[in-house]
Amino acid sequence: MRERFHQRSLDHQRPLSLVTMGFTVVAFLCTVTARELVGAPAGPLAYRLLCALLLALLVLAIPRAKSTALFGAIGVAYELVLIAGLVLNAKGLAHPLPWLLPAFVVIPICAAPLWLTPAHFVTGSVVFYAAAIALLRGKAHTPEVDAAVWTWLIAIGAPTAVVFHFGFYRFRRNHFLLESQLAQLAATDPLTGLQNRRSFVKHAQGRLETLAPGAQISAIFLDIDSFKSLNDRFGHAVGDHALFQVAQVLKDAVALYPSVSRIGGEEFALLLDNDLTGALQIAERLRLDIAAIERPDGHLTASFGVAEHRRGESFMMLLDRADEALLRAKQTGRNRVCAERALPFDALQSPFGDPSADPARYRWEDFYLISHFQPLYSLSHQKQVGFEALLRGEHDDGTLVPPVVMFAPKPSSDEGALDRASHAVHLGNARRALPGDAWLFLNILPSTFVAEGYADQLTKIVRAAGLEPERVILEILESHGGSVDEMSRAAARYRQHGFLIAVDDFGAGQSNLDRLLRIRPDLVKLDGELIRATTHGTQQPILPKLVSLLHQAGMLVVVEGVETADELILAVESNVDFAQGYLLGRPAAEIAPPDSVHRQIDDAFDVIAQGRAHQHALFESEMEPYRLELRRAADGLRAGAMMDDAFALLATFKRCISCFILDDTGRQIGHEVRGPAWCEDAASLQPVANPRDARWDHRPYFRNAVLLPGEAVTSNPYLSLASGRPCIAVTLAVQLASGRCVLGVELDWSARGLPWPAGE
Ligand code: GH3
Ligand code: MG
Ligand code: MG
Repeated sequence: MRERFHQRSLDHQRPLSLVTMGFTVVAFLCTVTARELVGAPAGPLAYRLLCALLLALLVLAIPRAKSTALFGAIGVAYELVLIAGLVLNAKGLAHPLPWLLPAFVVIPICAAPLWLTPAHFVTGSVVFYAAAIALLRGKAHTPEVDAAVWTWLIAIGAPTAVVFHFGFYRFRRNHFLLESQLAQLAATDPLTGLQNRRSFVKHAQGRLETLAPGAQISAIFLDIDSFKSLNDRFGHAVGDHALFQVAQVLKDAVALYPSVSRIGGEEFALLLDNDLTGALQIAERLRLDIAAIERPDGHLTASFGVAEHRRGESFMMLLDRADEALLRAKQTGRNRVCAERALPFDALQSPFGDPSADPARYRWEDFYLISHFQPLYSLSHQKQVGFEALLRGEHDDGTLVPPVVMFAPKPSSDEGALDRASHAVHLGNARRALPGDAWLFLNILPSTFVAEGYADQLTKIVRAAGLEPERVILEILESHGGSVDEMSRAAARYRQHGFLIAVDDFGAGQSNLDRLLRIRPDLVKLDGELIRATTHGTQQPILPKLVSLLHQAGMLVVVEGVETADELILAVESNVDFAQGYLLGRPAAEIAPPDSVHRQIDDAFDVIAQGRAHQHALFESEMEPYRLELRRAADGLRAGAMMDDAFALLATFKRCISCFILDDTGRQIGHEVRGPAWCEDAASLQPVANPRDARWDHRPYFRNAVLLPGEAVTSNPYLSLASGRPCIAVTLAVQLASGRCVLGVELDWSARGLPWPAGE
């Protein structure tokens, strides 16, 4: 207290001393000038000017004097130099006393109020008089002069100085006490005696500003539960007493008293020198202590939110995060402690930690978020090209949080927060784990994807993680949130930053072709089920056609969920660009080097190469009888046979739906000759069932026949409009009497187990 008062006095006196002592240097120079006007020989001028210089230097030292002792020492030194200068100046004069006496009387009086403490005053004054008397000694004085000098000093100089010094000292002391009292009142909550909000925030900000690097600091925010009902049912006095008791618990529990505050009605906050885990433990202790306080209808309880300070974050941001956790504690049932959510992204400016350190874990509610990575392979290159980051939750004891729990919708949950946190977690880990040239696939919710400013924010985080956006592929998840328009605009923004865009789970839920064509992703990830999807009836996979469609639209194709060698073969055969699945690599916390996977892909290529030759041979042998018979029919027609007779044999073939003749423009000539596979009851396609109404010159089977006249050509399987079933046509362009015609036979290819042309 005494020390604080003297320090405060120093702050007050410093400017006053500076001015007064500065003026005295000028006054001294005036006496030096006056002395030069007197003819009597004087002491060397240089000595006196040196004294003036020393005085000026001492004046300049005043603002730098931090301690009261140094301040006092400057005062004493100043007085000694001043006396020495004055005595030098009076040297050689017949009557020096008139030159010295005013200074001897006035200087101690002027200096008296400036001494900070009585000890300084006494020391300074004694030294001053002792020096003065010593310097005057030996000079010839008459007894009257001695008497006059002593009278001046004792009757006027000393008493006035004493009155001035102690008068000012008392005044300053009272002022200090009043000031302290006011400050105390302004900083304290009168009911509990704790710091109020203003003072708490000021202190806390001060502590954060002077925080040593690496020091950990956390905030606890607590709010008494159902406090209003206590007031309403038992009166404000009972409420006030409860507040007092809670404050007492907080004071008792936390040694660092100034860091506890009542920051609002029944809300309290603490700032602690602990990390999150330590602060959570303290909060839990406080929760139990408060729950032991009785209220007339049971026990008081309080809800707690805890957050740990992050580098670069302001105190208000820290408090906000603790408040958000408190809100969750309230929403999830009160009388509990909730930890902050991971990573406020606005505060995330600093680069991620040491890349060689352990995998990054981020506290999220009561578990940690960690990353698992699953490899994606380029099938043509047979190598890993990237990794999809998948979010996992892990408890303190290392057990995994089931995804249904982690992603379960909660009343207070902000889905976007978890989504954004996952990006930071993955990027933090990717920095450590991702091989040099690999892509990182990050899942992103449509609502996060379209969120204002997130493209910029994500770019910052990516760069902070030591990556470039070009290495990151954003997989827009299959879920609600964000219109297609918004998403297509957002996609353009992310592209500008360099990100690649993928649409996830195409073929499931919300996905449709319009969404795909508007977002125009660089990659499309096909839902795992699409691999296994086959056409109705023939059981032919639909993947190849789908991939070819997406390729035509300018998108690369990824299949997920490749679990068996057959699925891998199908993916390769379907021209899929990238594949992912348990067969190629499971998600794991560590990125494992590719081992035997390229071999597996290579084997799939071999199987396909062999299979293709075999399939080609099978298909050709299946087709040969039809081609042979069609050529015979053509010979018959050219020889003038009637249509029914010419096609008679062909129309008995089991798979024959019909035989027909098309003219040069693709229109049917005459009637079709129906075969055993003709189906009358294709009711659903009735309006287009009659081939005679249509024009067929756009069909590949017509065009291919015209391109190779005289040769029986086989079409790829297509869906027949007449039957609604997969068909194959064998056609032959010939010159008949009526002009150029295309003869054809349509074969029902809907049965299982029939060979299909290779590559289909
Ligand atoms: P919850 O569990 O959601 O926190 O409900 P609650 O009733 O505690 O919260 P609410 O914020 O609705 O009510 C807080 C009450 O605290 C309302 C106000 O009258 C009372 N209050 C605020 N300051 C004081 C005070 O100094 N003394 C007393 N006795 N009551 C106070
Ligand atoms: Mg409350
Ligand atoms: Mg409240």
